[in-house]
Amino acid sequence: MTDLQNIVDEIHAELSPRRGEGKVADYIPALARVDAKQFGIAVVDLDGNAAIAGDAKTPFSIQSISKVFTLTLALCRSGAALWTRVGREPSGSPFNSIVQLEAERGIPRNPLINAGALVVTDTLLDGRGAEGAAADILAFMRERAGGEPVTRDAEVAASEAATGFRNASLANFIRAFGNIHNPIDDVLGVYFGQCAIAASCLALARAGLYLANEGVDPLAKRRVIDAAGARRICAVMMTCGHYDASGDFAFRVGLPGKSGVGGGILAVAPKRAAIAVWSPGLGAAGTSLLGGLALEKLAARTGWSVF
Ligand code: GLN
Repeated sequence: MTDLQNIVDEIHAELSPRRGEGKVADYIPALARVDAKQFGIAVVDLDGNAAIAGDAKTPFSIQSISKVFTLTLALCRSGAALWTRVGREPSGSPFNSIVQLEAERGIPRNPLINAGALVVTDTLLDGRGAEGAAADILAFMRERAGGEPVTRDAEVAASEAATGFRNASLANFIRAFGNIHNPIDDVLGVYFGQCAIAASCLALARAGLYLANEGVDPLAKRRVIDAAGARRICAVMMTCGHYDASGDFAFRVGLPGKSGVGGGILAVAPKRAAIAVWSPGLGAAGTSLLGGLALEKLAARTGWSVF
């Protein structure tokens, strides 16, 4: 792990002068006022050894990274039937795009764009209601984070709800095709709540370890999802985890990953480690600028690209 710590330290030092580059998400005040100069990296291997640098222990809004964890829960519950309600093709569109939904009759392209994540979240409300589903998501992430703090930021959740017109449109549109079953407001409430979860790079990397370990949380020694399910989540992260910049991320980094507009990215190095990076400045595609660069350097120096 010392080698890895050196690599992480080096990458942090090399990119530090560029802290503050990119554009911080400003659609809600709580995200807009985050200090743009923050930058953290955490790599946790399958034995639980952690290499961290910078602001790796500072909680941030995980936003769309939550979609990986809700997808896991939904696959555990619904199994392959989930794929009748959401596809697994990259969209080539921005995260909140509505354009494909009409032609594809309310079946979202994949679970990692907003439309697909809303369907995934809808399945979690079945038999559990909004409160039950929200509690399940938080509990699942807390368990996976192994004691690192994971909280829900009520202010972020409320602002998401107050400004979430596009998400409400997506949900209503999907519902019109019969592919959302629970009350729209409940589904949206749970979705906004999952986006508002706050966790650090260290917590996220720890939480993502089961994806690097064929579905078994290696530290809790507990199977989270079957091996095929974990592989499929990684496949969808690789092809769809960064919206219309997914191809570029695969090209540059070569690891399954999922970004969020809070500036975090969770990446998976199969059979080796989970990695989380965070820097709030976003590039053109709405994913962390420095985070992407850090992962590119990390993949190059460790040789962890899956290709
Ligand atoms: N809360 C944001 C939304 O749903 C999350 C988007 C993201 O991280 N890409 O619009």
